[in-house]
Amino acid sequence: MSILVTRSSMPTLEEYTEEIRPIFESHWMTNMGPVYKKFQSQLKDYLQVPELSLFVNGHMALEMALHALGLRESGGEVITTPFTFVSTTHAIVRNELTPVFCDIKADDYTIDPEKIEELITDRTVAIVPVHVYGNICEIEKIQRIAERYKLKVIYDAAHAFGVTYKGIGVGNFGDASIFSFHATKVFNSVEGGAVAFHDRHYCQKLHELKNFGIQDQETVTAVGGNAKLDEFRAAMGICNLRRMDVCLNARKRIAERYDARLGNIAGIKILSRKRDIAPNYAYYPVYFDEAVFGKSRDDIYKALEKEDIYARKYFYPAVNELECYRGVFGSDTPIAHKVSNRILTLPIYEELAMEDVDRICSIILQGRKN
Ligand SMILES: *Cc1c(COP(=O)(O)O)cnc(C)c1O
Repeated sequence: MSILVTRSSMPTLEEYTEEIRPIFESHWMTNMGPVYKKFQSQLKDYLQVPELSLFVNGHMALEMALHALGLRESGGEVITTPFTFVSTTHAIVRNELTPVFCDIKADDYTIDPEKIEELITDRTVAIVPVHVYGNICEIEKIQRIAERYKLKVIYDAAHAFGVTYKGIGVGNFGDASIFSFHATKVFNSVEGGAVAFHDRHYCQKLHELKNFGIQDQETVTAVGGNAKLDEFRAAMGICNLRRMDVCLNARKRIAERYDARLGNIAGIKILSRKRDIAPNYAYYPVYFDEAVFGKSRDDIYKALEKEDIYARKYFYPAVNELECYRGVFGSDTPIAHKVSNRILTLPIYEELAMEDVDRICSIILQGRKN
């Protein structure tokens, strides 16, 4: 059987059936019904955030969070990272804002706060950093810059579900944080997403934006869209939330096995885990330095593929090298470029067998130079 980079978590059919039974009784399938409300309240507790607004996916959560914070009207510049999933940049551009790409740090691949200030102009309105692979950005430094220049900070926390920093839920930082519950993420509601924030003021705004700008039956106050999470997906989320501990423990064991086998090899760099961060083991990225290791990232990718194992080149190409952005929004990000050419994320998911983890490591280590 093929091994893919991830395998979506699912409850048993019986458990899901039980959860959706009330929907069949009430015929209330969407429009923020009781299952949505239950899911929202459970998630708020789990993520330890003051306010949470659910969305149909992480992308719309980010797009509408930028809109709700009043950035769309500014037409300004937003400093962000090119080492992310395209959604981050698309959300900025689709709000008619201009992305300005800032390079990343070589150690944990998050935005380099030392390089943000030189990119700030009088048009800059916000910073959109990404907690890539669940690595937490340099929150304090970013906050200080934001305060000095009066910029909004919206964290793309799509990779950081359930991660805590110094014991605080990651959704508590900046003006807002967005999460994704896509099927391929560490936690899923099939498709789904959320915006976490402090300021109650945004509750109504986000609610309106995701529901056509409707305030009540006869009052439409904003040009909203449709990005509501429905009851069936909320039910899937409720089921999967129950399984999070089991899922995280399994991922942790796999990550530790990879650490043990790949952690001390010259020319291979695994993620260094920081003391202050309780991780979610969502991804297992490995950096290959061909000059030392003797094989390139692409060599390893192909060697695994030959054995029916499909690792992923997340994130290659870097976003500012994609067709739609290359040469459009200029900026030189040499580290992001270098990392995106050398990184491979290995399979990690609850049911991945330890023998398969060992087999993946053996394939990687076969025929290396040292
Ligand atoms: C998955 C992801 C998104 C988008 O989330 P969806 O739920 O798929 O719309 C945004 N940013 C990052 C970094 C992601 O990985």
